[in-house]
Amino acid sequence: MSDSPQAPRGTYDVLPVQSAERSLLIEIAEEEFELAGYARIDTPIFEETTVFARGVGESTEIVSKEMYSFTDQGDRSLTLRPEGTAAIARAYGEHGMHKLPAPVKLWYYGPFFRQEAPQAGRYRQFFQIGAEALGSDDPALDAESIALLDRILRRAGVEGYRLRVSSLGSAPERRAYSEQLKGYLRDHDAELSDEVRERIELNPLRAFDSKHPGTIEVMKGAPKLLDTISAGDRAHFDEVLALLDAAGVGYEVDPSLVRGLDYYTRTVFEFTSDRLGAQSGVGGGGRYDGLVEMLGGPATPGVGWAAGVERIVQAGEIEGARTPGELDVFVALETGADRAAAFALASKLQESGVAAVIELAGRSLKGQLKQASRAGALRVVIMGGERGQYDAAIKNMDGGQQHELSGLTADDYLERIIESLTEDMEAATAESAQ
Ligand code: ATP
Ligand code: MG
Repeated sequence: MSDSPQAPRGTYDVLPVQSAERSLLIEIAEEEFELAGYARIDTPIFEETTVFARGVGESTEIVSKEMYSFTDQGDRSLTLRPEGTAAIARAYGEHGMHKLPAPVKLWYYGPFFRQEAPQAGRYRQFFQIGAEALGSDDPALDAESIALLDRILRRAGVEGYRLRVSSLGSAPERRAYSEQLKGYLRDHDAELSDEVRERIELNPLRAFDSKHPGTIEVMKGAPKLLDTISAGDRAHFDEVLALLDAAGVGYEVDPSLVRGLDYYTRTVFEFTSDRLGAQSGVGGGGRYDGLVEMLGGPATPGVGWAAGVERIVQAGEIEGARTPGELDVFVALETGADRAAAFALASKLQESGVAAVIELAGRSLKGQLKQASRAGALRVVIMGGERGQYDAAIKNMDGGQQHELSGLTADDYLERIIESLTEDMEAATAESAQ
């Protein structure tokens, strides 16, 4: 057993070969967010613990079992953010965003932390993209939010995904329903999993999420919240569905859909992909009309979602990913050549937007040419001569042609080499366009 440190359990490194695809996904998402009028927000990686304890809810699995909480040197209880919505609701109140024209539409991207059992598609540090729209309870905002995630998943090449939607109604009906469901669960407690039985009083709705066969059987016959919501909430939900139809977004109404956070009201939804195995959730969200107020801000309706970056990348087919380290020019050196001049050339090229590197590993000229081709360089500039009196050869790596520049001086060598490279590249572009 070696004692060299490893990435903490449930975390992973994003290596260069993996990061191109992720960056492209974020670009796609950003483009879609902007098209729908969402502006980026970044909240701190840690918050006062109460933001999540109050916002997400003490009875939820996230708060009761999964938070990375710690006390800092000033004796404050802080928590690495396990999700984004509560923090954004906190920021909305803190910055008086209710004074901005409604709805306020915000998007985010970043790492989140939950102490879960690590497995494929489930990590302790994972990345989410997310969208929140605050200040309006118009069902069109729900439908737009859902359609936005649908579009991002489509553009990321996620195939075979399902969208399930439901409505959790509002607090009074939900409270009454919760009592009814507790009664039903107590009547069937012998058939339930221990975990569900222990949480009947605390969080009976979570029984719908259980993977335990006996519980699943019992839940098939359970009363459904969707049947008990008020006429107003029902009309709101019907309008969301009608607008999804109008936007051509396919969905299934699933009355057993519940979400693991306490703040949801009315619309809830979840996208799943059959390409993901057991951790099939790609993204989900819903409406949270009481959340901002719960965190001390003014009463503000809101709706939003979060989606897992790892899961989208895994389920998707993201096209056009740039290969890492794509190289335009490799600056090679003949034996005894002026390294400072070569260095200045590479630096000047980078400044003008050309990807360029200089030999840094002490290779022979032959070794340098081999390295240039391994690195995928399009051109090699071979610097020769001595300090103040240079010559250079420009080698085209796919055509193999080479042309020489000689009699270069300290005053003009940068200009002349770059001019020649530019002509060469322009000629190649013109040729490939024909
Ligand atoms: P799950 O049912 O997979 O536990 P969740 O309901 O806890 O998901 P949300 O809190 O709604 O998930 O987060 C939205 C999305 O974030 C999920 O659909 C999933 O893609 C991703 N996600 C959540 N937890 C993790 C995790 N531990 N590792 C990787 N991705 C995650
Ligand atoms: Mg979860």
